[in-house]
Amino acid sequence: MKLKLIGHDERYTVEQSLMNLLPGELPVYEEITPEDDTWGVITLTEGEECRVEAELCLKGKAAKAVNSAPLSGSDYEKEGQRRHIMARAFYKAACELTGQQPPWGMLTGVRPDKLVTKALAEGKSAAEARLILERDYFVTPERSALALETGAMALRAARKLEKNDIAVYIGIPFCPTRCAYCSFVSHSVERSFALVPPYVEALIAEIRAGGAMVKERGLRVRAFYMGGGTPTTLTAQQMDAVLTAFEESFDLTHCEEITVEAGRPDTITAEKMAVLKAHGVSRVSVNPQTMEDHVLRAIGRRHSAGDIEEAMEVVGKYGFPHVNMDLIAGLPEDTPEGFARSLERCLAFDTDTVTVHTLALKKGSRILTEGLSIPDAEAVAKMLEMASPALRGAGHSPYYLYRQKYMSGSFENIGWCRPGAECWYNIYIMSELCSILSFGAGGSTKMVGSDGREIQRAFNPKYPKEYTERPEKWQANQAAFAAFYRE
Ligand code: SF4
Repeated sequence: MKLKLIGHDERYTVEQSLMNLLPGELPVYEEITPEDDTWGVITLTEGEECRVEAELCLKGKAAKAVNSAPLSGSDYEKEGQRRHIMARAFYKAACELTGQQPPWGMLTGVRPDKLVTKALAEGKSAAEARLILERDYFVTPERSALALETGAMALRAARKLEKNDIAVYIGIPFCPTRCAYCSFVSHSVERSFALVPPYVEALIAEIRAGGAMVKERGLRVRAFYMGGGTPTTLTAQQMDAVLTAFEESFDLTHCEEITVEAGRPDTITAEKMAVLKAHGVSRVSVNPQTMEDHVLRAIGRRHSAGDIEEAMEVVGKYGFPHVNMDLIAGLPEDTPEGFARSLERCLAFDTDTVTVHTLALKKGSRILTEGLSIPDAEAVAKMLEMASPALRGAGHSPYYLYRQKYMSGSFENIGWCRPGAECWYNIYIMSELCSILSFGAGGSTKMVGSDGREIQRAFNPKYPKEYTERPEKWQANQAAFAAFYRE
């Protein structure tokens, strides 16, 4: 969409609104000519009030909306108000154009429940917190109710934490094959088998150095999460070595949970589960994504729903305190009926946490590069509409949620659990409640100040080879982490 900004240069606000409300339209800053049938003109004028006029035209159909309000407070506060006025004008015009109201209204961020957590922390009532979402951001009542549940849980999680509490993440960037929807820098083990042993060795060195630094700074580890990729692509011996390094390097007195993703059922063996059990793993996450064989084939998984059942039987024998399963709504070749069957089969395993994702279209994924057909937004909405009552009926409630860019129907990912089965790490990371020290290729270390406002990030090299060959990068990141906690 060709864009013309008059009286301002708020590209970020306009582009976020565009991406949220007219997905598929990319911003282009070129002269709009009379021949163009898709364009937007956003005009800001400031007098006693700040006034924004948003005029949008999509394939020849035009709509216009105006929004205005007085500005007050500091320059910083006024800047926020200006952007809000602009986003509202854009939202109104886009809704008139499309005739649709997105579930999360004009909210474009990853964590739509953050506003609720903030409101509750300030002492506002649940009704007032919901009103902020519905009145100021046009969030639908269903989504504001959902945000209230997860936003309140985030506040509970925040109150559990003390100033020097952190969480630790270890990434294993290998998978048996690459899923069609994945853009993650994950290497197929078959093609990069030789990279795994040096990777494990480098990872152990990083974990040991990180443990020493954390002890020296007097930090407490509250949650540990091993993800990927698929951590269980490692052999039982390699997993044992990594978990041993972790245990030996950190004081785990205050660590409430150890989660390991055993994402792909075709990587789950009794030997590996025995290793996890021996290291006190408290949650294993098995991620079938669907229980439909033809959908598993379409996404490039080389296992069947029957294999998932066998893997769950193996996991069940080890009596982990918590087990999670992931499903995705909107996968290629899936239908609402197929999703309903997956949901039913998934619930039959009776796990105490279930995560329901909405398909996100990622650059570089085979869905985009090969043009695989996927269910439309209406079908995805139907899938999610069945998930909520089915999960509530099985005793689950939503405990965290987040959104990603380019999600089908602009919906969300929701973690559901039975009371007491929350994976706190997920809440800590999504609500940015504490620092996360990340190890491994692609690791993203986040340093969160005690007021929750100051956030710094440090990134490890993306690829296993680069990570293995350049320890100086993670060493610099650990030095930055230590400096962040220097008194
Ligand atoms: S299991 Fe996850 S990380 Fe691995 S290829 Fe599939 S989506 Fe990507």
